[in-house]
Amino acid sequence: MKINNVVVIGSGTMGSGIAAQLCNANIPVTLLDLKTEISQKAKERIEKSRPPLLIDKSKIDGINVGNITDNFNLVAEADWIVEAVVERIDIKHDIYEKIFKKRKKDSIVSSNTSSIPISILSEKLSEEDKKDFCITHFFNPVRYMDLLEIVKNEKSDLEKIKHLKNFCEVDLGKGAIICNDTPGFLGNRIGVYAMQVAMTEAFKMKLSIEEADAIFGRPMGIPKTGVFGLYDLIGIDLMADVLKSFIKELPESDEFQEVAKEIPLVKKLIETGYTGRKGKGGFYRMNKVDNKKILEAINLETGEYHPTQKINIKSEKVDLKALINRDDRYGEYAWSVISKIINYASSLVPGITDEFNDIDEAMRLGFNWSKGPFEMLEEIGVANFFDKFTNYEGNKFLENLSKTKDEKFHGVRQKYTDIETLGKVKKTATSIDGNSSASIYRFNNFNIVEFTTKANALDYDSMDALKKATDKPLIIINESMQFSAGVNLTYTMNFADKADYKSIEKFVKYFQDTCKELKYSKYPVISAPSGLTLGGGFEVLVQSNFVASHTNIVVGLVETMVGLVPAGGGCKEMLWRWSQTDEAKNDPDYAPLKVFDIIGYGKTATSPVEAEPLKYLLPENKKIMSRNSLLNVSRSIIDENRDFKPPAEVSFNLPGKPLKEKMIKLLEKLYNNRVILDHGMVVGTELANVLSGGDTSIDKVLSEDNLYKLELDSFMRLIETKETQDRIKHTLSTGKPLVN
Ligand code: NAD
Repeated sequence: MKINNVVVIGSGTMGSGIAAQLCNANIPVTLLDLKTEISQKAKERIEKSRPPLLIDKSKIDGINVGNITDNFNLVAEADWIVEAVVERIDIKHDIYEKIFKKRKKDSIVSSNTSSIPISILSEKLSEEDKKDFCITHFFNPVRYMDLLEIVKNEKSDLEKIKHLKNFCEVDLGKGAIICNDTPGFLGNRIGVYAMQVAMTEAFKMKLSIEEADAIFGRPMGIPKTGVFGLYDLIGIDLMADVLKSFIKELPESDEFQEVAKEIPLVKKLIETGYTGRKGKGGFYRMNKVDNKKILEAINLETGEYHPTQKINIKSEKVDLKALINRDDRYGEYAWSVISKIINYASSLVPGITDEFNDIDEAMRLGFNWSKGPFEMLEEIGVANFFDKFTNYEGNKFLENLSKTKDEKFHGVRQKYTDIETLGKVKKTATSIDGNSSASIYRFNNFNIVEFTTKANALDYDSMDALKKATDKPLIIINESMQFSAGVNLTYTMNFADKADYKSIEKFVKYFQDTCKELKYSKYPVISAPSGLTLGGGFEVLVQSNFVASHTNIVVGLVETMVGLVPAGGGCKEMLWRWSQTDEAKNDPDYAPLKVFDIIGYGKTATSPVEAEPLKYLLPENKKIMSRNSLLNVSRSIIDENRDFKPPAEVSFNLPGKPLKEKMIKLLEKLYNNRVILDHGMVVGTELANVLSGGDTSIDKVLSEDNLYKLELDSFMRLIETKETQDRIKHTLSTGKPLVN
């Protein structure tokens, strides 16, 4: 079975997301809805979506639209028909009847239902048709959420399911997990339970929502939206519907029932239009006081709002053992929540899946947790866990584990896929070195460096790990969401606050030396980015010899936004790339002006396709839909380059002063139009200085080291200004740029 043509029925949130992802994979797809206007509107929504659902907007017409009355004959041509209409069984049954009358024999049909069991969905199908029917449960937004749950029925044609799974993994880039036909499958069953536990325990223990989110968040390896922030993001009303469906579907004895009960405050929020971010606000809301926007949080006891309070739980790293052993309410809360999640998840094995490991992976792929419940248990330690947790009667998994006390019970990761992923390799690779910012693994004949800081922000230690790992072919890759959000600004500001500029200079110099070593080391260096690849993260990438990029990247040099210039070789490399164009051969100003525009505005690209015209990525860089395959593709690059020779050093002829003056004229125009303000002028002038070559002339040859020096000098002059420090502080506290 080959999937070359797909019809998606229902063009709402999920249908349009699925169609967009098929379009990303260059698979012709038709979106059908009740009326063509509805699917046409969906197409417009796809085009305008932020973050974008399409990798390449110019491909939008790969999505064909129509309606289920006039265009239903298209179903006859489809290899795969996906039903994504409203969650109503009567409507779904109706559609299946029509589909199975029309579809071609070797096609496969699936539903995107999030809560209706396949036994009910397929109850009216013939035994023959049941063979070709399954559930494909995608998560929203489809391009960015990696989990896909596939549910088969007892009659399913397993060969076909295997093909579909493989297609979804490789072509659509999903982590496709086959699970049993139980309410909420894996991700939502555990994920929503976890949210409910985190919420009900916060009520019980009288924690503020800021406190609960500060713990049920990064310290537990969970996204920083925590529980109340996530509730607001999903929609408090939608969550209430999800809970109602669980209450209906699950037996009364299921522990879920206990935490799914309606909470009066939540009911009141929904009734008064406080449904979350899409409504007037939710647990958090943005309020305007004296014309100033203030983020407020609700008091769970009184229902009143107050300005949010920053909670510092003084733990930068994910350290579950330390967290649950804290001798305070936070430790108590963390233990209570984590132990309940572990207990619940393990009590459902093998009912919801034969492989407990799939639950961990579902939480990683569908909820962006860095560890699932069983890995949490492993990290806490089996003996430690049972020292504290005694009430597990009837939980077969825990009863058994309490006897074997096997600290290494967890075993292989990512059993759901045949792909040799980083997660699997890490378990068998030798950990050869590492520090608090990065780990180095040796696997076969190459090294792997994985950054391990928050958003993989880079510091001295990250560079140290890279430097140490260049004694073999090196793959820079990681499992967490971001490749790297750039240099660690907090780390830099800690020095700036003490006016210790020498240390900053030393760090930037070390950053440059490391990147140079990556570029010219004897062995090939491959960067395999996904997620944010910004600033210093991009500089690591651009000075690697090869790139295998996931299609979901956000890439760019954004230093000017925080009042700096790229100083790890970013200016230099971009100048080089642009100087290789035909236009640059005839016009020495061409490349510097292009780069001035790109870096000056801090332009970013949200996919490799957008990155190429900016030359953040090159046509020869590999672009991969399947994140799980990044390691394999990187390995094949090593194999293909056994006779690798490092590149020759490059040199530059730059115009110097006349070009700098030209650039300053451009800045003055922006300044007069108030696009930039005083400090924007200062930053722009420093950038102009670097990109024009500083004190040089077109006949002089500048080396890469000369360029590094120009970058470093400008960087140092800028970091010492109060205005740049103001920008950095503002960005660190708000996540937004300061225009000054
Ligand atoms: P939605 O309300 O956004 O869209 C449903 C679409 O179906 C609408 O455009 C509607 O016009 C269309 N429709 C209704 N009856 C139809 C018919 N007879 N023929 C053709 N089109 C018809 O819904 P959604 O959020 O996209 O959900 C779709 C399915 O996906 C549901 O089964 C839902 O449970 C499931 N799901 C939703 C999410 C989510 O986050 N929204 C996540 C996973 C799964």
